[in-house]
Amino acid sequence: MKWQNHMIIGAAFGAVINPLIIPVAVLGSTAPDWLEYVLKICGYRVKHRTVTHVLLYWLAAIAFFALVIDYRHIGLGFAIGGFSHVIADSFTIAGVPFSPTSDARFHLFGGKLRTGNAGEYVVAGIIALMCAGWVHLSPASFKNAPTLETSGFIPFFYDWKKEYDSGIVDGAEWRENRLKFI
Ligand SMILES: [Zn+2]
Repeated sequence: MKWQNHMIIGAAFGAVINPLIIPVAVLGSTAPDWLEYVLKICGYRVKHRTVTHVLLYWLAAIAFFALVIDYRHIGLGFAIGGFSHVIADSFTIAGVPFSPTSDARFHLFGGKLRTGNAGEYVVAGIIALMCAGWVHLSPASFKNAPTLETSGFIPFFYDWKKEYDSGIVDGAEWRENRLKFI
């Protein structure tokens, strides 16, 4: 799958958890691919869509950062981005490995996509819409979202949040525009 679609899906996944993690989720959304280059530079022989694309690894990373230790959701955001990448790749014909010990490939929806096909954009669009819908229907999950004061880290969409807080834009407008950077 193309990186731009991975980034859209990563941002959408991140938005469901917490808007503040979107930047790291976008970084993580391409990680399974660029980690292959990093490993190669380090002298490891990596085949495409193997070790860095194991679904269980990314699930374990999410569990680790969510339950054990994390710093300002950076680990969690990155892991969610990586997880979104592997999920997105599972739509393709080649699929992804489910666990490091099995050769079976994991596919979603029959694994019909070919990388570079228009279908990719459709899948990315549908996932983004579903995530936006989720965010729209569950605004309560954002009530506890960290603010600038508590997070100390400024994402590019922060202004919308600030304007929302100060009443310049209403909730619907904020929710709508928050995802506009996509
Ligand atoms: Zn990939």
